[in-house]
Amino acid sequence: MAKETHEFQAETKQLLNLMIHSIYTNHEIFLRELISNASDAIDKLHFASLTDKSILEGNEDYEIFLIPDKDSHTLTISDNGIGMNKEEIVENLGTIAKSGTKAFLEQLKKEKENAGNADISDNLIGQFGVGFYSAFMVAEKVTVVTRKAGEKEAVRWESTGDGSYTMEECEKETRGTTITITLGKDFYGDSAEENFTDNWNIQNLVKKYSDYVRYPIKMNFETEETPRDEEGKEIEGAEKIKKTEVRTLNSMQPLWTKNKSDISKEEYSKFLKTQFHEWEEPMEVFHNKAEGTVEYTSLLYIPAKAPFNLYHTDYEPGIQLYSRHVFIMDKCKDLLPDYLGFVKGLVDSPDLSLNISRELLQQSRELKTIGKNMEKTILKSLERKLSKDREGYEKFWAEFGKSLKIGIYNSMFTGNDIINKLKELLLFVSSKDGKNVSLKEYVERMPESQKKIYYATGTDQATIEKLPQMELLKEKGLEVLYLLDPVDEFAIEAIRTYADKEFQSISRGDLDLDDAESQEVKKETEELAKTNDDLIKDIKEALADKVAEVKISARLKSSAVCLVADAQGPSLSMEHTFAAMDN
Ligand code: ADP
Ligand code: MG
Repeated sequence: MAKETHEFQAETKQLLNLMIHSIYTNHEIFLRELISNASDAIDKLHFASLTDKSILEGNEDYEIFLIPDKDSHTLTISDNGIGMNKEEIVENLGTIAKSGTKAFLEQLKKEKENAGNADISDNLIGQFGVGFYSAFMVAEKVTVVTRKAGEKEAVRWESTGDGSYTMEECEKETRGTTITITLGKDFYGDSAEENFTDNWNIQNLVKKYSDYVRYPIKMNFETEETPRDEEGKEIEGAEKIKKTEVRTLNSMQPLWTKNKSDISKEEYSKFLKTQFHEWEEPMEVFHNKAEGTVEYTSLLYIPAKAPFNLYHTDYEPGIQLYSRHVFIMDKCKDLLPDYLGFVKGLVDSPDLSLNISRELLQQSRELKTIGKNMEKTILKSLERKLSKDREGYEKFWAEFGKSLKIGIYNSMFTGNDIINKLKELLLFVSSKDGKNVSLKEYVERMPESQKKIYYATGTDQATIEKLPQMELLKEKGLEVLYLLDPVDEFAIEAIRTYADKEFQSISRGDLDLDDAESQEVKKETEELAKTNDDLIKDIKEALADKVAEVKISARLKSSAVCLVADAQGPSLSMEHTFAAMDN
Protein backbone atom coordinates (compact mmCIF):
# COMPACT_ATOMS: atom_id res chain seq x y z
CA MET A 1 0.00 0.00 0.00
CA ALA A 2 1.48 3.31 -1.04
CA LYS A 3 0.98 6.32 1.15
CA GLU A 4 -2.62 7.50 0.90
CA THR A 5 -4.20 10.75 2.00
CA HIS A 6 -7.77 10.73 3.29
CA GLU A 7 -10.10 13.47 4.39
CA PHE A 8 -11.73 13.25 7.80
CA GLN A 9 -15.49 13.06 7.79
CA ALA A 10 -17.10 16.49 8.14
CA GLU A 11 -18.22 15.96 11.71
CA THR A 12 -14.80 14.69 12.71
CA LYS A 13 -13.26 17.84 11.30
CA GLN A 14 -15.62 19.92 13.34
CA LEU A 15 -14.71 18.01 16.45
CA LEU A 16 -10.99 18.23 15.80
CA ASN A 17 -11.34 21.92 15.31
CA LEU A 18 -12.95 22.21 18.71
CA MET A 19 -10.19 20.15 20.29
CA ILE A 20 -7.35 22.06 18.70
CA HIS A 21 -8.76 25.45 19.49
CA SER A 22 -9.06 24.28 22.98
CA ILE A 23 -12.51 24.99 24.00
CA TYR A 24 -11.47 22.90 26.82
CA THR A 25 -9.01 23.74 29.52
CA ASN A 26 -8.27 20.41 31.11
CA HIS A 27 -5.71 19.19 28.59
CA GLU A 28 -4.25 16.43 30.72
CA ILE A 29 -7.26 14.16 30.34
CA PHE A 30 -6.05 13.14 26.88
CA LEU A 31 -3.71 10.73 28.66
CA ARG A 32 -6.53 9.10 30.54
CA GLU A 33 -8.47 8.73 27.28
CA LEU A 34 -5.59 7.07 25.44
CA ILE A 35 -4.84 4.77 28.36
CA SER A 36 -8.46 3.80 28.57
CA ASN A 37 -8.47 2.99 24.84
CA ALA A 38 -5.36 0.89 25.35
CA SER A 39 -7.02 -0.94 28.22
CA ASP A 40 -10.18 -1.49 26.14
CA ALA A 41 -8.03 -2.89 23.34
CA ILE A 42 -6.43 -5.40 25.72
CA ASP A 43 -9.87 -6.35 27.04
CA LYS A 44 -10.99 -7.05 23.50
CA LEU A 45 -7.94 -9.16 22.79
CA HIS A 46 -8.34 -11.06 26.03
CA PHE A 47 -11.97 -11.76 25.35
CA ALA A 48 -11.28 -12.97 21.82
CA SER A 49 -8.48 -15.18 23.13
CA LEU A 50 -10.90 -17.09 25.32
CA THR A 51 -12.20 -18.81 22.21
CA ASP A 52 -9.11 -18.50 20.01
CA LYS A 53 -5.81 -18.80 21.83
CA SER A 54 -3.78 -18.40 18.66
CA ILE A 55 -4.32 -14.64 18.43
CA LEU A 56 -2.17 -14.18 21.52
CA GLU A 57 0.83 -15.15 19.36
CA GLY A 58 2.34 -16.70 22.45
CA ASN A 59 2.40 -13.47 24.43
CA GLU A 60 -0.03 -13.23 27.32
CA ASP A 61 1.76 -10.49 29.24
CA TYR A 62 -0.64 -7.65 28.77
CA GLU A 63 0.79 -4.20 29.32
CA ILE A 64 0.56 -0.53 28.48
CA PHE A 65 3.84 1.30 28.09
CA LEU A 66 4.41 5.04 28.32
CA ILE A 67 7.51 6.66 26.85
CA PRO A 68 7.99 10.38 27.37
CA ASP A 69 10.92 11.67 25.32
CA LYS A 70 12.39 15.07 26.12
CA ASP A 71 14.63 15.19 23.05
CA SER A 72 12.00 14.56 20.42
CA HIS A 73 9.19 16.26 22.40
CA THR A 74 7.05 13.19 22.10
CA LEU A 75 4.94 11.04 24.35
CA THR A 76 4.29 7.48 23.23
CA ILE A 77 1.49 5.26 24.51
CA SER A 78 1.85 1.66 23.51
CA ASP A 79 -0.35 -1.37 24.12
CA ASN A 80 -0.31 -5.02 23.14
CA GLY A 81 -4.06 -5.22 22.72
CA ILE A 82 -6.17 -6.18 19.74
CA GLY A 83 -4.79 -3.55 17.32
CA MET A 84 -6.55 -2.37 14.18
CA ASN A 85 -6.36 -3.24 10.50
CA LYS A 86 -6.68 -0.69 7.74
CA GLU A 87 -10.47 -0.80 7.51
CA GLU A 88 -10.84 -0.47 11.24
CA ILE A 89 -8.54 2.53 11.35
CA VAL A 90 -10.58 4.33 8.72
CA GLU A 91 -13.76 3.45 10.56
CA ASN A 92 -12.54 4.23 14.08
CA LEU A 93 -10.17 7.14 13.60
CA GLY A 94 -11.39 8.73 10.37
CA THR A 95 -15.09 8.95 10.97
CA ILE A 96 -17.30 9.39 13.94
CA ALA A 97 -19.73 6.60 13.42
CA LYS A 98 -21.49 7.14 16.67
CA SER A 99 -24.61 9.23 16.77
CA GLY A 100 -23.37 10.42 20.15
CA THR A 101 -21.01 12.80 18.44
CA LYS A 102 -23.77 14.94 17.07
CA ALA A 103 -25.27 15.12 20.52
CA PHE A 104 -21.82 15.93 21.85
CA LEU A 105 -21.37 18.86 19.51
CA GLU A 106 -24.81 20.18 20.32
CA GLN A 107 -24.30 19.84 24.03
CA LEU A 108 -20.98 21.57 23.71
CA LYS A 109 -22.55 24.48 21.92
CA LYS A 110 -25.15 24.77 24.63
CA GLU A 111 -22.61 24.72 27.43
CA LYS A 112 -20.53 27.27 25.63
CA GLU A 113 -23.48 29.60 25.28
CA ASN A 114 -24.30 29.22 28.94
CA ALA A 115 -20.80 29.49 30.26
CA GLY A 116 -19.49 32.06 27.84
CA ASN A 117 -15.94 31.13 27.02
CA ALA A 118 -15.21 30.03 30.54
CA ASP A 119 -14.75 26.43 31.60
CA ILE A 120 -16.51 23.85 29.58
CA SER A 121 -17.28 21.11 32.00
CA ASP A 122 -14.77 18.26 31.97
CA ASN A 123 -17.21 15.56 31.47
CA LEU A 124 -18.22 15.85 27.87
CA ILE A 125 -15.35 14.15 26.16
CA GLY A 126 -15.38 10.85 28.00
CA GLN A 127 -19.12 10.75 28.23
CA PHE A 128 -19.57 10.99 24.51
CA GLY A 129 -16.81 8.58 23.60
CA VAL A 130 -14.73 10.88 21.46
CA GLY A 131 -11.64 10.12 23.48
CA PHE A 132 -9.05 9.55 20.81
CA TYR A 133 -9.40 13.01 19.32
CA SER A 134 -8.59 14.61 22.65
CA ALA A 135 -4.93 13.88 21.79
CA PHE A 136 -5.11 16.79 19.40
CA MET A 137 -5.51 19.17 22.31
CA VAL A 138 -1.81 18.76 23.04
CA ALA A 139 -0.48 17.38 19.77
CA GLU A 140 1.13 18.96 16.80
CA LYS A 141 0.98 15.60 15.13
CA VAL A 142 -0.39 12.21 16.09
CA THR A 143 1.14 9.02 14.69
CA VAL A 144 -0.56 5.67 15.14
CA VAL A 145 1.26 2.46 14.27
CA THR A 146 -0.91 -0.57 14.71
CA ARG A 147 -1.15 -4.23 13.83
CA LYS A 148 -4.22 -6.31 14.42
CA ALA A 149 -3.65 -9.46 16.47
CA GLY A 150 -3.49 -12.48 14.17
CA GLU A 151 -2.89 -10.42 11.01
CA LYS A 152 0.37 -9.62 9.23
CA GLU A 153 -0.01 -6.17 7.78
CA ALA A 154 0.66 -3.18 10.00
CA VAL A 155 -0.45 0.37 9.24
CA ARG A 156 0.96 3.79 10.04
CA TRP A 157 -1.68 6.51 10.38
CA GLU A 158 -0.71 10.13 10.80
CA SER A 159 -2.42 13.46 11.11
CA THR A 160 -1.79 16.99 12.23
CA GLY A 161 -5.51 17.40 12.76
CA ASP A 162 -5.89 19.82 9.87
CA GLY A 163 -8.65 17.94 8.06
CA SER A 164 -6.82 15.01 6.55
CA TYR A 165 -4.74 12.02 7.55
CA THR A 166 -2.31 9.71 5.79
CA MET A 167 -2.00 5.94 5.89
CA GLU A 168 0.70 3.60 4.70
CA GLU A 169 1.78 0.06 5.21
CA CYS A 170 4.58 -0.52 7.67
CA GLU A 171 6.35 -3.10 9.80
CA LYS A 172 5.38 -3.89 13.36
CA GLU A 173 6.59 -6.93 15.11
CA THR A 174 4.35 -7.00 18.14
CA ARG A 175 0.57 -6.88 17.94
CA GLY A 176 -1.30 -3.85 19.23
CA THR A 177 -1.15 -0.10 18.92
CA THR A 178 1.52 2.50 19.47
CA ILE A 179 0.42 6.11 19.52
CA THR A 180 3.08 8.77 19.36
CA ILE A 181 2.13 12.32 20.13
CA THR A 182 4.44 15.03 18.92
CA LEU A 183 3.65 17.63 21.54
CA GLY A 184 2.75 21.21 20.78
CA LYS A 185 5.12 23.85 22.13
CA ASP A 186 3.08 24.55 25.26
CA PHE A 187 3.26 20.96 26.39
CA TYR A 188 6.91 20.05 26.74
CA GLY A 189 10.03 21.43 28.33
CA ASP A 190 10.68 22.50 31.90
CA SER A 191 9.21 25.95 31.43
CA ALA A 192 5.93 24.58 30.08
CA GLU A 193 2.97 24.81 32.38
CA GLU A 194 2.01 21.29 31.50
CA ASN A 195 5.00 19.19 30.65
CA PHE A 196 4.06 15.84 29.21
CA THR A 197 7.64 14.73 28.73
CA ASP A 198 8.24 14.73 32.45
CA ASN A 199 8.22 11.31 34.14
CA TRP A 200 6.92 12.56 37.44
CA ASN A 201 4.11 14.50 35.91
CA ILE A 202 3.08 11.47 33.88
CA GLN A 203 3.28 9.26 36.95
CA ASN A 204 1.01 11.61 38.88
CA LEU A 205 -1.51 11.73 36.08
CA VAL A 206 -1.67 7.95 35.93
CA LYS A 207 -2.24 7.81 39.69
CA LYS A 208 -4.89 10.46 39.41
CA TYR A 209 -6.87 9.08 36.50
CA SER A 210 -5.87 5.53 35.75
CA ASP A 211 -4.89 3.87 38.99
CA TYR A 212 -7.46 1.10 38.76
CA VAL A 213 -6.76 0.21 35.15
CA ARG A 214 -6.40 -3.54 35.40
CA TYR A 215 -3.34 -3.90 33.21
CA PRO A 216 0.07 -2.64 34.27
CA ILE A 217 0.90 0.83 32.98
CA LYS A 218 4.66 0.87 32.81
CA MET A 219 7.33 3.48 32.30
CA ASN A 220 11.11 3.59 32.32
CA PHE A 221 12.82 5.57 35.03
CA GLU A 222 16.44 6.57 34.76
CA THR A 223 18.21 6.27 38.07
CA GLU A 224 21.72 6.96 39.17
CA GLU A 225 23.59 4.86 41.63
CA THR A 226 26.92 5.30 43.34
CA PRO A 227 29.06 2.19 42.93
CA ARG A 228 29.69 0.17 46.11
CA ASP A 229 32.72 -1.63 47.39
CA GLU A 230 32.86 -5.30 48.36
CA GLU A 231 31.37 -4.55 51.74
CA GLY A 232 28.44 -2.77 50.19
CA LYS A 233 29.60 0.73 51.10
CA GLU A 234 29.27 3.53 48.57
CA ILE A 235 32.58 4.43 47.01
CA GLU A 236 33.20 8.07 47.52
CA GLY A 237 34.00 10.14 44.45
CA ALA A 238 33.26 7.30 42.04
CA GLU A 239 31.38 8.03 38.83
CA LYS A 240 27.68 7.24 39.14
CA ILE A 241 26.18 4.31 37.29
CA LYS A 242 23.15 5.10 35.16
CA LYS A 243 20.40 2.53 35.32
CA THR A 244 17.04 2.10 33.67
CA GLU A 245 14.32 0.70 35.79
CA VAL A 246 10.84 -0.29 34.62
CA ARG A 247 8.12 0.69 37.08
CA THR A 248 4.44 -0.04 37.13
CA LEU A 249 2.61 3.19 37.84
CA ASN A 250 -0.88 1.98 38.72
CA SER A 251 -1.82 -0.04 41.77
CA MET A 252 -4.30 -2.29 39.94
CA GLN A 253 -5.65 -3.63 43.20
CA PRO A 254 -9.29 -4.43 42.57
CA LEU A 255 -11.20 -2.15 44.90
CA TRP A 256 -14.08 -4.56 45.33
CA THR A 257 -11.85 -7.18 46.89
CA LYS A 258 -11.16 -4.93 49.86
CA ASN A 259 -13.34 -4.85 52.95
CA LYS A 260 -16.18 -2.38 52.85
CA SER A 261 -14.98 -0.80 56.07
CA ASP A 262 -11.58 -0.12 54.52
CA ILE A 263 -12.95 1.76 51.56
CA SER A 264 -13.63 5.47 51.78
CA LYS A 265 -16.41 7.28 50.02
CA GLU A 266 -13.79 9.02 47.88
CA GLU A 267 -12.34 5.69 46.78
CA TYR A 268 -15.71 4.38 45.70
CA SER A 269 -16.34 7.55 43.83
CA LYS A 270 -12.90 7.62 42.19
CA PHE A 271 -13.37 4.04 41.09
CA LEU A 272 -16.65 4.87 39.40
CA LYS A 273 -15.10 7.83 37.65
CA THR A 274 -12.00 6.09 36.39
CA GLN A 275 -13.66 2.83 35.43
CA PHE A 276 -16.96 3.89 34.02
CA HIS A 277 -16.56 7.31 32.45
CA GLU A 278 -18.57 9.01 35.13
CA TRP A 279 -17.94 12.52 36.30
CA GLU A 280 -20.05 13.16 39.32
CA GLU A 281 -20.26 11.58 42.72
CA PRO A 282 -22.48 8.50 42.56
CA MET A 283 -26.03 8.70 43.81
CA GLU A 284 -25.89 5.20 45.32
CA VAL A 285 -23.20 2.59 45.86
CA PHE A 286 -23.95 -1.08 46.47
CA HIS A 287 -21.06 -3.25 47.51
CA ASN A 288 -22.08 -6.78 48.43
CA LYS A 289 -20.43 -10.08 49.06
CA ALA A 290 -22.72 -13.08 48.78
CA GLU A 291 -22.03 -16.64 49.80
CA GLY A 292 -25.16 -18.58 49.01
CA THR A 293 -25.80 -21.04 46.22
CA VAL A 294 -23.69 -18.76 44.09
CA GLU A 295 -20.71 -16.93 45.48
CA TYR A 296 -20.02 -13.46 44.20
CA THR A 297 -19.01 -9.90 44.96
CA SER A 298 -20.83 -7.06 43.31
CA LEU A 299 -20.02 -3.38 43.20
CA LEU A 300 -22.82 -1.42 41.63
CA TYR A 301 -23.54 2.26 41.26
CA ILE A 302 -26.45 4.46 40.44
CA PRO A 303 -24.76 7.43 38.80
CA ALA A 304 -25.78 10.99 39.57
CA LYS A 305 -27.06 11.67 36.09
CA ALA A 306 -28.78 9.66 33.41
CA PRO A 307 -26.63 9.39 30.28
CA PHE A 308 -27.88 11.60 27.48
CA ASN A 309 -28.79 8.61 25.31
CA LEU A 310 -30.24 6.29 27.96
CA TYR A 311 -33.46 5.82 26.05
CA HIS A 312 -31.97 5.71 22.57
CA THR A 313 -31.20 2.49 20.77
CA ASP A 314 -27.49 3.26 20.72
CA TYR A 315 -27.21 3.21 24.51
CA GLU A 316 -25.24 0.21 25.66
CA PRO A 317 -26.15 -0.93 29.14
CA GLY A 318 -24.28 -3.61 30.98
CA ILE A 319 -22.28 -4.77 33.93
CA GLN A 320 -18.66 -5.90 33.84
CA LEU A 321 -17.99 -9.52 34.63
CA TYR A 322 -14.95 -10.91 36.40
CA SER A 323 -14.06 -14.33 37.59
CA ARG A 324 -11.57 -14.49 40.46
CA HIS A 325 -10.63 -10.87 39.71
CA VAL A 326 -9.85 -11.66 36.09
CA PHE A 327 -11.80 -9.62 33.63
CA ILE A 328 -14.16 -11.63 31.43
CA MET A 329 -16.45 -9.18 29.76
CA ASP A 330 -17.54 -5.59 29.54
CA LYS A 331 -21.19 -4.58 29.38
CA CYS A 332 -22.90 -7.89 30.01
CA LYS A 333 -26.54 -7.19 29.23
CA ASP A 334 -27.94 -10.39 30.61
CA LEU A 335 -27.31 -9.79 34.26
CA LEU A 336 -29.76 -7.06 35.12
CA PRO A 337 -33.15 -6.51 33.51
CA ASP A 338 -33.32 -3.85 30.79
CA TYR A 339 -35.02 -1.28 32.96
CA LEU A 340 -31.99 -1.15 35.24
CA GLY A 341 -29.78 -0.30 32.29
CA PHE A 342 -28.64 2.86 34.05
CA VAL A 343 -26.87 0.88 36.77
CA LYS A 344 -23.10 0.69 36.37
CA GLY A 345 -20.60 -1.59 37.99
CA LEU A 346 -19.26 -5.10 38.09
CA VAL A 347 -19.69 -8.61 39.37
CA ASP A 348 -16.85 -10.90 40.32
CA SER A 349 -17.70 -14.54 40.84
CA PRO A 350 -15.63 -17.72 40.97
CA ASP A 351 -18.74 -19.51 39.77
CA LEU A 352 -18.61 -17.80 36.40
CA SER A 353 -16.39 -19.75 34.09
CA LEU A 354 -13.65 -17.91 32.26
CA ASN A 355 -13.51 -20.16 29.28
CA ILE A 356 -17.00 -20.05 27.96
CA SER A 357 -18.43 -18.21 25.03
CA ARG A 358 -20.64 -15.18 25.29
CA GLU A 359 -23.65 -17.25 24.20
CA LEU A 360 -23.22 -19.87 26.89
CA LEU A 361 -22.53 -17.24 29.48
CA GLN A 362 -25.85 -15.59 28.71
CA GLN A 363 -27.69 -18.78 29.51
CA SER A 364 -25.72 -19.49 32.63
CA ARG A 365 -27.87 -20.25 35.63
CA GLU A 366 -25.36 -18.62 37.96
CA LEU A 367 -25.62 -15.38 36.04
CA LYS A 368 -29.40 -15.41 36.36
CA THR A 369 -29.26 -16.03 40.09
CA ILE A 370 -26.77 -13.23 40.63
CA GLY A 371 -28.83 -10.88 38.47
CA LYS A 372 -32.03 -11.61 40.36
CA ASN A 373 -30.32 -10.99 43.69
CA MET A 374 -28.84 -7.74 42.54
CA GLU A 375 -32.17 -6.54 41.18
CA LYS A 376 -33.74 -7.24 44.56
CA THR A 377 -30.98 -5.40 46.38
CA ILE A 378 -31.38 -2.35 44.20
CA LEU A 379 -35.16 -2.22 44.50
CA LYS A 380 -35.04 -2.73 48.25
CA SER A 381 -32.64 0.14 48.64
CA LEU A 382 -34.80 2.38 46.48
CA GLU A 383 -37.80 1.53 48.61
CA ARG A 384 -35.82 2.48 51.70
CA LYS A 385 -34.72 5.70 50.05
CA LEU A 386 -38.28 6.63 49.20
CA SER A 387 -39.40 6.29 52.80
CA LYS A 388 -36.26 7.61 54.52
CA ASP A 389 -34.78 10.17 52.18
CA ARG A 390 -37.54 11.73 50.14
CA GLU A 391 -35.41 14.49 48.71
CA GLY A 392 -32.77 12.03 47.56
CA TYR A 393 -35.41 9.77 46.10
CA GLU A 394 -36.97 12.63 44.16
CA LYS A 395 -33.57 13.32 42.65
CA PHE A 396 -33.32 9.70 41.65
CA TRP A 397 -36.82 9.83 40.28
CA ALA A 398 -36.11 12.87 38.15
CA GLU A 399 -33.15 11.10 36.54
CA PHE A 400 -34.31 7.51 36.29
CA GLY A 401 -38.03 7.38 37.03
CA LYS A 402 -38.79 6.77 33.39
CA SER A 403 -36.74 3.58 33.54
CA LEU A 404 -38.86 2.13 36.33
CA LYS A 405 -42.02 2.93 34.40
CA ILE A 406 -40.60 1.17 31.37
CA GLY A 407 -39.80 -1.72 33.70
CA ILE A 408 -43.43 -1.93 34.71
CA TYR A 409 -44.57 -1.81 31.14
CA ASN A 410 -42.10 -4.51 30.08
CA SER A 411 -43.08 -6.81 32.93
CA MET A 412 -46.47 -7.13 31.23
CA PHE A 413 -44.73 -9.21 28.58
CA THR A 414 -42.33 -11.11 30.80
CA GLY A 415 -45.03 -11.87 33.36
CA ASN A 416 -42.59 -10.72 35.97
CA ASP A 417 -43.95 -10.27 39.48
CA ILE A 418 -41.46 -7.47 40.02
CA ILE A 419 -44.29 -5.17 39.01
CA ASN A 420 -45.55 -5.33 42.59
CA LYS A 421 -42.33 -3.85 43.86
CA LEU A 422 -42.00 -1.32 41.08
CA LYS A 423 -45.44 0.19 41.52
CA GLU A 424 -44.55 1.18 45.06
CA LEU A 425 -41.70 3.23 43.64
CA LEU A 426 -43.78 5.31 41.25
CA LEU A 427 -44.28 9.03 41.72
CA PHE A 428 -46.73 11.29 39.93
CA VAL A 429 -47.34 14.99 40.03
CA SER A 430 -50.51 15.63 42.02
CA SER A 431 -53.25 18.15 41.31
CA LYS A 432 -53.35 18.83 45.01
CA ASP A 433 -50.09 20.72 45.38
CA GLY A 434 -48.15 20.16 42.18
CA LYS A 435 -45.74 17.95 44.12
CA ASN A 436 -44.86 14.31 43.61
CA VAL A 437 -47.08 11.73 45.26
CA SER A 438 -46.72 7.96 45.44
CA LEU A 439 -49.71 5.70 44.84
CA LYS A 440 -49.64 4.67 48.47
CA GLU A 441 -49.84 8.27 49.61
CA TYR A 442 -52.60 9.01 47.14
CA VAL A 443 -54.75 6.14 48.32
CA GLU A 444 -54.09 6.90 51.99
CA ARG A 445 -55.38 10.41 51.70
CA MET A 446 -58.37 9.91 49.42
CA PRO A 447 -61.87 10.32 50.87
CA GLU A 448 -63.62 7.11 51.81
CA SER A 449 -66.33 7.57 49.20
CA GLN A 450 -63.75 7.73 46.40
CA LYS A 451 -63.53 4.41 44.56
CA LYS A 452 -61.05 5.17 41.81
CA ILE A 453 -57.67 6.70 41.27
CA TYR A 454 -58.07 9.61 38.88
CA TYR A 455 -55.45 10.60 36.40
CA ALA A 456 -55.06 12.98 33.52
CA THR A 457 -52.60 12.81 30.65
CA GLY A 458 -50.94 15.69 28.89
CA THR A 459 -47.60 17.11 27.93
CA ASP A 460 -47.45 19.56 30.79
CA GLN A 461 -49.19 20.54 33.96
CA ALA A 462 -50.67 23.77 32.65
CA THR A 463 -52.36 22.03 29.74
CA ILE A 464 -53.97 19.48 32.03
CA GLU A 465 -55.14 22.14 34.42
CA LYS A 466 -56.96 23.77 31.54
CA LEU A 467 -58.85 20.58 30.69
CA PRO A 468 -62.58 21.19 31.11
CA GLN A 469 -62.87 17.92 33.03
CA MET A 470 -60.47 19.14 35.68
CA GLU A 471 -62.86 21.77 36.85
CA LEU A 472 -65.41 19.31 38.09
CA LEU A 473 -62.88 17.16 39.94
CA LYS A 474 -61.27 20.16 41.53
CA GLU A 475 -64.60 21.40 42.69
CA LYS A 476 -65.30 18.08 44.30
CA GLY A 477 -61.89 18.14 45.96
CA LEU A 478 -60.76 15.00 44.18
CA GLU A 479 -57.04 14.54 43.66
CA VAL A 480 -55.84 13.85 40.13
CA LEU A 481 -52.50 12.37 39.11
CA TYR A 482 -50.85 14.17 36.23
CA LEU A 483 -49.30 11.76 33.74
CA LEU A 484 -46.88 13.98 31.91
CA ASP A 485 -44.75 11.37 30.21
CA PRO A 486 -46.34 9.18 27.51
CA VAL A 487 -44.88 6.11 29.20
CA ASP A 488 -46.81 6.93 32.40
CA GLU A 489 -50.03 5.78 30.90
CA PHE A 490 -48.51 2.54 29.67
CA ALA A 491 -47.33 1.87 33.19
CA ILE A 492 -50.77 2.58 34.62
CA GLU A 493 -52.30 0.26 32.04
CA ALA A 494 -49.89 -2.45 33.12
CA ILE A 495 -50.61 -2.05 36.82
CA ARG A 496 -54.38 -1.92 36.25
CA THR A 497 -55.24 -1.52 39.95
CA TYR A 498 -53.59 -0.27 43.10
CA ALA A 499 -54.89 -1.32 46.52
CA ASP A 500 -57.94 -2.70 44.71
CA LYS A 501 -58.67 0.70 43.23
CA GLU A 502 -58.97 1.02 39.50
CA PHE A 503 -57.36 3.81 37.58
CA GLN A 504 -59.69 6.18 35.83
CA SER A 505 -58.60 8.60 33.15
CA ILE A 506 -60.54 11.81 33.48
CA SER A 507 -60.60 12.09 29.71
CA ARG A 508 -61.87 8.61 29.07
CA GLY A 509 -65.47 7.38 29.03
CA ASP A 510 -67.85 8.46 31.75
CA LEU A 511 -66.27 9.76 34.88
CA ASP A 512 -68.80 8.02 37.07
CA LEU A 513 -68.19 9.95 40.24
CA ASP A 514 -69.86 7.88 42.89
CA ASP A 515 -71.15 10.54 45.19
CA ALA A 516 -74.88 11.26 45.50
CA GLU A 517 -74.69 14.61 43.79
CA SER A 518 -73.02 13.09 40.75
CA GLN A 519 -75.67 10.38 40.51
CA GLU A 520 -78.29 13.07 40.49
CA VAL A 521 -76.55 15.01 37.74
CA LYS A 522 -76.17 11.83 35.77
CA LYS A 523 -79.88 11.21 35.81
CA GLU A 524 -80.52 14.78 34.69
CA THR A 525 -78.11 14.46 31.81
CA GLU A 526 -79.71 11.27 30.65
CA GLU A 527 -83.07 12.99 30.53
CA LEU A 528 -81.55 15.94 28.79
CA ALA A 529 -80.09 13.61 26.19
CA LYS A 530 -83.50 12.08 25.55
CA THR A 531 -85.18 15.40 24.99
CA ASN A 532 -82.30 16.64 22.80
CA ASP A 533 -82.06 13.60 20.65
CA ASP A 534 -82.45 15.53 17.39
CA LEU A 535 -79.79 18.05 18.28
CA ILE A 536 -77.30 15.32 19.05
CA LYS A 537 -78.06 13.61 15.78
CA ASP A 538 -77.44 16.87 13.89
CA ILE A 539 -74.11 17.47 15.57
CA LYS A 540 -73.06 13.93 14.88
CA GLU A 541 -73.88 14.25 11.22
CA ALA A 542 -72.03 17.55 10.96
CA LEU A 543 -68.90 16.09 12.53
CA ALA A 544 -69.31 12.91 10.50
CA ASP A 545 -66.37 10.53 10.97
CA LYS A 546 -64.34 12.94 13.06
CA VAL A 547 -65.81 11.61 16.30
CA ALA A 548 -67.21 8.27 17.33
CA GLU A 549 -69.95 9.49 19.60
CA VAL A 550 -71.67 12.70 20.71
CA LYS A 551 -73.03 12.83 24.25
CA ILE A 552 -74.51 15.28 26.67
CA SER A 553 -72.04 15.42 29.49
CA ALA A 554 -72.21 15.85 33.21
CA ARG A 555 -68.58 16.65 33.51
CA LEU A 556 -68.58 20.18 32.09
CA LYS A 557 -68.66 23.31 34.13
CA SER A 558 -67.85 26.46 32.20
CA SER A 559 -66.62 24.87 28.94
CA ALA A 560 -69.20 24.17 26.26
CA VAL A 561 -67.70 20.97 24.88
CA CYS A 562 -64.86 18.62 25.60
CA LEU A 563 -63.21 15.77 23.75
CA VAL A 564 -63.11 12.46 25.54
CA ALA A 565 -61.74 9.08 24.59
CA ASP A 566 -63.69 5.88 24.33
CA ALA A 567 -63.88 3.96 27.60
CA GLN A 568 -62.34 0.90 26.01
CA GLY A 569 -60.15 2.42 23.31
CA PRO A 570 -56.77 4.06 23.75
CA SER A 571 -56.73 7.36 25.57
CA LEU A 572 -55.99 10.59 23.77
CA SER A 573 -52.39 10.80 24.84
CA MET A 574 -51.77 7.17 23.92
CA GLU A 575 -53.21 7.92 20.51
CA HIS A 576 -50.73 10.77 20.22
CA THR A 577 -47.92 8.46 21.24
CA PHE A 578 -48.90 5.84 18.71
CA ALA A 579 -49.15 8.48 16.03
CA ALA A 580 -45.68 9.77 16.91
CA MET A 581 -44.24 6.24 16.86
CA ASP A 582 -45.53 5.62 13.36
CA ASN A 583 -43.58 8.55 11.98
P1 ADP B 1 -14.36 5.02 22.41
O1 ADP B 1 -13.17 4.55 23.17
O2 ADP B 1 -15.40 5.59 23.30
O3 ADP B 1 -14.90 3.99 21.46
P2 ADP B 1 -12.41 6.69 21.17
O4 ADP B 1 -12.48 7.94 20.36
O5 ADP B 1 -11.62 6.78 22.41
O6 ADP B 1 -13.89 6.25 21.47
O7 ADP B 1 -11.83 5.55 20.27
C1 ADP B 1 -12.44 5.28 19.02
C2 ADP B 1 -12.18 3.88 18.57
O8 ADP B 1 -10.86 3.72 18.08
C3 ADP B 1 -12.30 2.83 19.66
O9 ADP B 1 -13.63 2.42 19.84
C4 ADP B 1 -11.44 1.70 19.10
O10 ADP B 1 -12.18 0.91 18.21
C5 ADP B 1 -10.38 2.43 18.34
N1 ADP B 1 -9.16 2.55 19.14
C6 ADP B 1 -8.70 3.64 19.77
N2 ADP B 1 -7.55 3.39 20.43
C7 ADP B 1 -7.26 2.09 20.19
C8 ADP B 1 -6.19 1.20 20.59
N3 ADP B 1 -5.21 1.61 21.38
N4 ADP B 1 -6.23 -0.07 20.14
C9 ADP B 1 -7.24 -0.50 19.34
N5 ADP B 1 -8.26 0.28 18.94
C10 ADP B 1 -8.27 1.55 19.35
MG1 MG C 1 -12.05 5.78 24.37
